[in-house]
Amino acid sequence: AALLEARGIGKSFLGIAALDGVDFTLQRGEIHALLGENGAGKSTLIKILTGVYSLERGTIRLDGVDVKPADVAAAQALGIGTVYQEVNLLENLTVAENLFLGRQPRRFGLIDKREMRKRSAALLSRYGLDIDVDALLSSYSVAIRQIVAIARAVDLSGKVLVLDEPTASLDAHEVEMLFTVLRRLRQDGLGIIIITHFLNQVYDIADRVTVLRNGRLVGSKPIADLPRLDLISMMLGRELQHITG
Ligand code: ADP
Ligand code: MG
Ligand code: MG
Repeated sequence: AALLEARGIGKSFLGIAALDGVDFTLQRGEIHALLGENGAGKSTLIKILTGVYSLERGTIRLDGVDVKPADVAAAQALGIGTVYQEVNLLENLTVAENLFLGRQPRRFGLIDKREMRKRSAALLSRYGLDIDVDALLSSYSVAIRQIVAIARAVDLSGKVLVLDEPTASLDAHEVEMLFTVLRRLRQDGLGIIIITHFLNQVYDIADRVTVLRNGRLVGSKPIADLPRLDLISMMLGRELQHITG
């Protein structure tokens, strides 16, 4: 079975369909780009997969088992983690405190800072991040804060990682840093869903793309079988050959 299989996903806001019977399949060890023009339904789909919205129409199978995450914590417990564009961490806590928020290791009833520091450093070294885990999160760049958020999400969830426009505020060097992390996670067998508007990044990192338009599935293909112009045509719903003609 696929790692994640969503079938016939639907969602309406005030009677207007944002998603209309969309299918989406994610494999283990796959980086899957979700594409489409603004308003296509990308964020709505991933909000359903990550438990932000409840599943109203359709089915979700994870590792071959039907699931219906009631909220974000439930999705996380099932193995589906997410990092939002506005990174969901606390700037005024240390890196280590953020990584173990709500689940700090304890010793004789007290938070075991040494143990937490040790585990934090070990966790981050998997991502090639050698930083002071006792420094405030706010002292680091957006890219590093984002990788800390990913490390936490993967440690909590561990099967599926969902990223909605993670590169929006990163420079070229930081994007490469992030993609190095994603490639490592792919190698570990994680399934990764990524939304980005930059097609160069899609061709750089994605194994497969799924395109939505007006809340419907247009198609899903390996990136290697999809020339750039065809992809843009799928997103816009217009034949573009004549432009280059
Ligand atoms: P995308 O992420 O591809 O830009 P969205 O999933 O955000 O698309 O939006 C899909 C459609 O659903 C749009 O028409 C949008 O206006 C509508 N929509 C999304 N979220 C809401 C909401 N909370 N309330 C009402 N309409 C919404
Ligand atoms: Mg949008
Ligand atoms: Mg969106």
